[in-house]
Amino acid sequence: MSNTYQNFIAGQWRAPASGEHFENRNPANTDELIGLFPETGPPSGAGGADIEAAVASAERGFEKWSRMPAPERGFVLKKAGDVMTERKDAIARDMTREMGKVLEETRGDVQEAIDTAYYAAVEGRRLFGKTVPSELRDKWAMSFRRPIGPFAIITPFNFPLAVPSWKIFPALLCGNSIIWKPSEDVPLTANTFTEILLESGLPPEAIQLVHGAGETVGKALVDHPEVPGISFTGSTRTGSAIGETAGRMHKRLSLEMGGKNAQIVMADADMDLALDGVIWGAFGTAGQRCTATSRLLLEDRIHDEFVARLQARAEALRLGDGLDSGTEVGPMIHPAAVEKCERYVEIARSQGATVACGGARATGPGLEKGHFFRPTVLTGVDRNHRTACEEIFGPVLSVIKFESLDEAIDINNQVEYGLSSALYTSDVRSAFRAINELDNGITYVNAPTIGAEAHLPFGGVKGTGNGHREGGWEVYEFYTETKVAYVDYSGKLQRAQIDVDW
Ligand code: NAP
Repeated sequence: MSNTYQNFIAGQWRAPASGEHFENRNPANTDELIGLFPETGPPSGAGGADIEAAVASAERGFEKWSRMPAPERGFVLKKAGDVMTERKDAIARDMTREMGKVLEETRGDVQEAIDTAYYAAVEGRRLFGKTVPSELRDKWAMSFRRPIGPFAIITPFNFPLAVPSWKIFPALLCGNSIIWKPSEDVPLTANTFTEILLESGLPPEAIQLVHGAGETVGKALVDHPEVPGISFTGSTRTGSAIGETAGRMHKRLSLEMGGKNAQIVMADADMDLALDGVIWGAFGTAGQRCTATSRLLLEDRIHDEFVARLQARAEALRLGDGLDSGTEVGPMIHPAAVEKCERYVEIARSQGATVACGGARATGPGLEKGHFFRPTVLTGVDRNHRTACEEIFGPVLSVIKFESLDEAIDINNQVEYGLSSALYTSDVRSAFRAINELDNGITYVNAPTIGAEAHLPFGGVKGTGNGHREGGWEVYEFYTETKVAYVDYSGKLQRAQIDVDW
């Protein structure tokens, strides 16, 4: 079949040893089959050959790629950025077909990857080490950075290009090789991205693309003794399981996981701006963003009026195929995601909350064949209700009242996650208190909880992450090992801490 796709292993596109494939369908219209992708089998079965071949190839790729000067590696990434710029619209259209979010957002997803490529390309001339004074005379002391080896890159469905680019570009720039296990929900974008890297001059064995289930392919890579590094983005449950293995095997590991992000609106805020912010933050990408606004904290004085306006705006949002102009909210990724939203609406009701709008699957002309859920606002939510604490990952917003900034900060900080937060206020003192005291990796003032820029570190605290960051300058620390070198040109034995003569 023409739309049967392959893995990229050992420098060539090849069918899985298992002979099995899985279907990739458009979540806005499940009649549309996008393609069949390799169902790479478990390491104990036929799939073992693919995984072993991928790891062995990544080791060879590492030997070659890591010896290329970093500025030259950067040039390959710059070329990839140029190719993505030329093909931005076509990539975005395919991404909307397989993932569902509206075209404007998938264009933004591609743009984020382009920005990340250009940032990484320049970093090839800046992988700074340090030269510092030695304690001893006639001795030179310096640090520099070395690549680590093959990295397993395991990525989620919601940013099919941007999230992989946050990992793959810096990992490659630093001289590592890649074995990529993308989400089974967005395999087409993974093939496109791999093709672009190869076309841009990446040595073939520097990247391996292995499709298949997380429980088999992802787990096999995490468990593999010859894969020293893992970068994972996905749910906290999966990340925690990976963390246990990585800890036991002393692997380098970056985890970017779930969120339960709050937008706080003070009574002195610009209400129109706060309303625009929550509509975009809660219902953009149908709520399937790690930084999505899933809690709205309203100062009690403005609660009723704000909820009334929010309800009207949420009910008016147009659902549909993300490729249709005029669509504001696309489908959810698969039926299980819709069922999860339904389940949480029932939990909210059973705990005493009110469904102010939405709360059910969306039906109607054009929606029959997709996984659509209506933008949902829950009011009367207590800060300890399950919908106020657990990640739903859909267009379901819990509204919670508060009386003071102290209380709002406390509610924000009580959940197990700590990715992003937003405060709307016109008071500079409240703004700076929030920046300082909200327990998240990112705080926005007078802007929604979503929207990262490629040159700043991105990530969260507590259940969201394990202390590393993607993006910006910090991610280059993760993909390199620091080495220190001393050169003693005194011509005699000098013993540190012993032969000091001052
Ligand atoms: P997920 O179910 O955890 O899957 C993420 C990736 O891990 C997929 O490729 C999955 O494979 C794979 N996987 C599953 N089980 C595995 C295992 N045992 N070992 C190794 N890999 C395994 O997450 P998702 O539903 O795709 O994405 C949504 C989640 O990602 C949300 O919690 C969201 O908050 C989080 N997220 C976080 C960030 C951030 O930067 N903090 C950004 C985006 C998304 P399959 O193909 O089988 O699914």
